[in-house]
Amino acid sequence: MSKINLLSSEVYNRISAGEVIEIPASAVKELVENAIDAGATAITVEIVGGGISSINIKDNGCGIEKSELKKALLPHATSKIKSVDDLDCISTLGFRGEALASIASVSKITIKSKPISQEFGAQISYSNNAFSEISDTSLNNGTEIKVDNLFYNAPVRAKFLRSEKSEEGEITAVMSRFILGHPEISFKYIANGKVVLQSFGEGEESAFVCVYGASSIDDCFYIKSEKNGIIISGYIGKHYFTKSNRGHQTVFLNGRYIVNNTVSSAISNAYSSYLMKRQYPFYVLNITVPTDAVDVNVHPNKIDVRFNNNQIIYSSIYSVISKALDGTNEALNIIVDKKTDNNQVKSTENIIHYDRHNSINTPKNFVFNDSGAKSLDVDYNKIDKKEEKKDVEDIFALNKAYLEKLEEEKKNKTVNIKEENQTFIKIDKKLSLIGQALNTFLIFEDGEDLYFIDQHAAHERILFDKFSQEVKNASVVSQPLLVPYILFTDNNESDFLEEKLNVLNDMGFIIDEFGTNTYKISSVPAFLTEINLKKFFNELFFDIDILKKITVNDLLKDKIAQKACKSAIKSGDKMSEDEISILMEKLNNNLGLKCPHGRPIAIKITRTEIDKWFKRIV
Ligand code: ADP
Ligand code: MG
Repeated sequence: MSKINLLSSEVYNRISAGEVIEIPASAVKELVENAIDAGATAITVEIVGGGISSINIKDNGCGIEKSELKKALLPHATSKIKSVDDLDCISTLGFRGEALASIASVSKITIKSKPISQEFGAQISYSNNAFSEISDTSLNNGTEIKVDNLFYNAPVRAKFLRSEKSEEGEITAVMSRFILGHPEISFKYIANGKVVLQSFGEGEESAFVCVYGASSIDDCFYIKSEKNGIIISGYIGKHYFTKSNRGHQTVFLNGRYIVNNTVSSAISNAYSSYLMKRQYPFYVLNITVPTDAVDVNVHPNKIDVRFNNNQIIYSSIYSVISKALDGTNEALNIIVDKKTDNNQVKSTENIIHYDRHNSINTPKNFVFNDSGAKSLDVDYNKIDKKEEKKDVEDIFALNKAYLEKLEEEKKNKTVNIKEENQTFIKIDKKLSLIGQALNTFLIFEDGEDLYFIDQHAAHERILFDKFSQEVKNASVVSQPLLVPYILFTDNNESDFLEEKLNVLNDMGFIIDEFGTNTYKISSVPAFLTEINLKKFFNELFFDIDILKKITVNDLLKDKIAQKACKSAIKSGDKMSEDEISILMEKLNNNLGLKCPHGRPIAIKITRTEIDKWFKRIV
């Protein structure tokens, strides 16, 4: 156990400190973090009255020596850092040395602790600005901290507290995150005498089940990948498993719960084509980066972090999640069957190490190691400079370009790995078409499984993939309409059209002005001749505010393509044989198909399920 230091002003002035205890949940968070930092493997949290009446936290960690007890309660007292240099590579959850002092200043606190080296435990209390005497007490190894009457002497803060139930809810959320983020620790969380959550320190899956229930496991992919020195693992909701709010999005960075824009926008963008309006992805992700690639000392609650290189973090996360979701062959390198997982990272991506020394001169750049990745030679400076001027959507496109370049160059360099992969991913599926049901669903048989395909959604996806590809390759063929379509717009719509005419042109639409706020559409993309132009422009103008903000043409084209394909499909349309065989091919390679608007395309029913219906098995 290390000694508690009182930080010099030189150090604590460098710490972005602030008010850490605003609500009972922040006290719980700080106290549990301390227990984790102390190496505890079992932590019990008991609260009464939403944590306002009392919070009691017991751990079996390293304890605090009797002679240090008083010091632990002083401001800027920490055993976790000593000097300014330590701020660059923080690996503990705490480091500011102010949580206990802040809690003590607004409550009646008692700390009991027994390090293994001491025969007895010792205790100290602090309330009304006064320390108690330190006395001996009987205690198992570890620490027990009791906080009573939170904010009893801080009426302003007490006034801002919400109902006990709401404060309890916040604490429950905090505890859920601890359970998810520290699956190796057993947690027991009791509120008003009732056990609300309990985990057993038995690993990720068990922790996940403890928080979200066993059924949620099947609604998620478990992914694992190492890319650019960044390890990404955890649960991501399958395409259909979406939520109506952002409350089910959990990210841990090096074990610390964070809320960070770079990370969340990378994930949201990877999901974007799968989500319907007002739906949010579900995820519990662990991201591991070298400690010196991230600054955790930027937010008083330590909840946000700053990456040395946002670009590489964004790209890595975006690419891993989208590969998993898009269900391409590469998904098989990322999605892990937990039951057979031997903890090996399966992705064969090159690993790039962060070089601390070099980073002093070029803080924004990750430096490649000698394992071959050097030759990838991506010009970050260029990207970074552009990035400064542009908005999020542009960053999205830049990342896309960056990833494509990376993929392309890797393809040339890693032929051997690729060959190996191909044997790994080969799936022996023999799909056969059983027929069409209810004029809407195609049914395929695949060994012991049946697939029900929503042909409308599937058709849309096929068109979308094909159209996007054509647009990307600039190979869209334009087909003149027999009768031009006349479009009437308002000023706003007309401005938008004028501004984006070249984009629509690239996509095969020929549009000319035809009087004030009126346009003539004389050609459409050849293979979307069935497009319902009225529907298409309605769709387009419905989202005009969002579309207007998109300044990257590629991204805009993707969005327009979605709308065009949607408008080219009629319910009950028969799919051609060609399209059915494209679909079968896709199914052979894809784990998760979705239409561009987020509805599932395929539902799988296993033989076991059907046998159960008929009680052939129970
Ligand atoms: P920080 O966690 O930033 O160091 P805190 O005010 O939270 O600051 O804690 C002060 C110090 O008290 C810690 O650095 C640690 O040495 C000690 N401490 C606090 N809680 C515990 C605990 N549960 N077990 C062991 N030591 C603890
Ligand atoms: Mg702390």
